Amino acid sequence: MLPEHGRTAQDLLAELSGLKAADLPVRGGKVTAYVYDTGRPEVHETAHRAYAEMLEVNMLDPTAFPSMVAIEKQVVGAVAELLGRPGAPGIFTSGGTESIMLAVKAARDHGPGGGEIVLPVTAHPAFHKAAHYLGLDVVPVPVDPVTFTVSPAAVEAALTARTVLVVASAPSYPQGVIDPVEEVAALASAKGVLCHVDACVGGWLLPWLREAGAAVPPFDLSVPGVTSISCDLHKFGYAPKGASVLLFRDAALRRKAYFASAAWPGYTIINATVQSSRSAGPLGGAWGTLQALGAEGYRELGRTTLEATRRLVKGVAAIPGLRVLGEPESSLVAIAGSDEVDVFVVADEARRLGWFLQPQLSYAGIPANLHITVTGVTLAGVDALLEVIAAAAGAARARGPAVVPDGLPELIAGLDLDALDDATFAELAASVGVDLRGSGSGDAAQPEMAVVNAVLDALPAATREAVLVRFLSVMYS
Ligand SMILES: *Cc1c(COP(=O)(O)O)cnc(C)c1O
Repeated sequence: MLPEHGRTAQDLLAELSGLKAADLPVRGGKVTAYVYDTGRPEVHETAHRAYAEMLEVNMLDPTAFPSMVAIEKQVVGAVAELLGRPGAPGIFTSGGTESIMLAVKAARDHGPGGGEIVLPVTAHPAFHKAAHYLGLDVVPVPVDPVTFTVSPAAVEAALTARTVLVVASAPSYPQGVIDPVEEVAALASAKGVLCHVDACVGGWLLPWLREAGAAVPPFDLSVPGVTSISCDLHKFGYAPKGASVLLFRDAALRRKAYFASAAWPGYTIINATVQSSRSAGPLGGAWGTLQALGAEGYRELGRTTLEATRRLVKGVAAIPGLRVLGEPESSLVAIAGSDEVDVFVVADEARRLGWFLQPQLSYAGIPANLHITVTGVTLAGVDALLEVIAAAAGAARARGPAVVPDGLPELIAGLDLDALDDATFAELAASVGVDLRGSGSGDAAQPEMAVVNAVLDALPAATREAVLVRFLSVMYS
């Protein structure tokens, strides 16, 4: 793989662009998850330049690179100001997962060690991951089957002497609705328990939607009892990936997220994050994006995002066989199907038309659905998006639901996946139309995912997880 002789930049970039040809496009709004496009290329260009300028600064040692301390203070300060507590202490992290990991660590170390996290079933898996990594237990609480938000009474019933953290989402990713933050935080506070608001996706969106006229309930650090909040700038801050901010009510709690070690004969370690050596590029990119857009830019993006969301929700309601789950309070929309219109088939049909709609499996009584994240660029293409959804739904009705091969879920659920060799697993995948050997080569045919999703949907969560781990491992072999 390593060439004997160094290659030219032109040669390398040509190869990268060839490899990327099979990727989903990151601009233009036809991919309605993963990517956040302002529709303003000059803003992204500015961010790239600021990113590159800071790329080689190492955030390992803030005394060596004061520039990064100054920039981080500005970025954290901007988020604190927007989220109800100017001057609140915070940490710039690599993403929502790391922000959540550190909020959970702070909660664990705030108490005597060990304990439980109480969270709605709609909370992001990053909390399960944090609990898994940090040796805590998760206590999931069901959500209302109509509003998809958690009920304060159910949260109260789940609190025990072992609870170290209560979680509310603003909004939750799956249906884009906001948990009752005021009530949940008050309950936690009454029991002396910390409360984290996961505003990873909503933190840098909801305040601008509110300014644009949306009814957004209080959800931030101004709410009594909220002790930490996470806000991803690489989502609705439109910053390049690797950018999130975690805010704390006070500096004492932030110190519980830090880690220091003097237990070796090398340089002393003081880390604010999970990572130690890390590039200041993402920090520069986030700062550059915030500065390039300014309040006016975000206000305008909030306005167009809200209008696009309203038009999307209204438009979907008029498509036979589809319905929007709950009442979206942000710009995330979940679309469920019906007996006649299988959402997994809709996703494949939309993909054929050049659009990516993100499948979400059924869970905890919530039906399978397609997730759409409406961003700044969506408004310009919202009519085209609705036409694609309507056409895909029509085609899905004509094709009928994905057919799960007889007995396959039972067969998979009964397998010891660790005992299968890769070749046998690849054969199993081929039986549902997935060519694992072709993946990553860049020339694999457009995958038909409906049957795969239908099979996964028929499996219990633990088996889904085992299959997914196996899938990833084979993809990289
Ligand atoms: C995206 C998201 C996360 C996780 O963030 P990453 O940046 O992907 O690690 C956590 N919570 C919510 C609500 C999210 O939308």
